[in-house]
Amino acid sequence: MPELPEVETIVRALRDGGRGHPSILHRTVKDVRVLWKRTLAEPGVSTLKRRIVGKSVTAVTRRGKFVIIQLQPEYLLFHLRMSGDLRVESVRDSKGLAQPLQLHDRLILDFEDGTRMAFNDTRKFGRAWLVADPQTIMDSLGPEPLSHELSYSSFHSLLISCHRQLKHLLMDQKFLAGMGNIYTDEALHLAKLHPAMNSENITLEQAHVLLNSIRKVLREGIRRNGASIDWVYRGGDFQNHFRVYQCTGEPCPVCGTPIQRIVIGQRSTHYCPVCQPQPNQV
Ligand SMILES: [Zn+2]
Repeated sequence: MPELPEVETIVRALRDGGRGHPSILHRTVKDVRVLWKRTLAEPGVSTLKRRIVGKSVTAVTRRGKFVIIQLQPEYLLFHLRMSGDLRVESVRDSKGLAQPLQLHDRLILDFEDGTRMAFNDTRKFGRAWLVADPQTIMDSLGPEPLSHELSYSSFHSLLISCHRQLKHLLMDQKFLAGMGNIYTDEALHLAKLHPAMNSENITLEQAHVLLNSIRKVLREGIRRNGASIDWVYRGGDFQNHFRVYQCTGEPCPVCGTPIQRIVIGQRSTHYCPVCQPQPNQV
């Protein structure tokens, strides 16, 4: 499942070009095709068409795991969920022949210049919305972990105000936006905190180390263009640099102890029992 670094990589490629395709900035929408009806959460197909045909892409940004495409004055939002991806290509190949769509393409934006953006989604859980205000969809999202607006003391206050296991809490999008299974396991190992530790017992110093660790693994994930693992994702190689995620039985990169796997909140959790000891819970 794509997490913050994978979504950020997709956003940067749509904005600046990359991952083998050009930027979509300043391209004007000629037509929109919805090939799987449930992909479009809001509004209906005919309304979407009426509102975006003739509009140009003025910005592409990210909030949490959402891709936000600005089509002035509205916003087209995508949530990739399990297996969504966005690619840009020419409608015709170098010989002038029509390029066929790919299996699992769910929504297509055709641009006036002969290119198109395709939302491909094998598992069909991904969703798109056209809204005047993105906040209406993303209202409940927690702070951005990479934002300077999130201070160590406010992160500590948020942690101790909850009575939740760290692993579970960090993956909660209402608590912190963008983290999933991979980057949570990696960050907790780097911070030397047990994934089942109760958040209300964390010290200010531990919260400081944890936020730094989260930022470090997210930045490394972005630098490596995300991780290509168990979902359809092109390009990233962060999976070759995991410290603990899906490394059960392999030596901890710090102390050599075999990495263990436990289940927290129904999610596989990987940690080092020596570097991340279970604290004595009161
Ligand atoms: Zn270790």
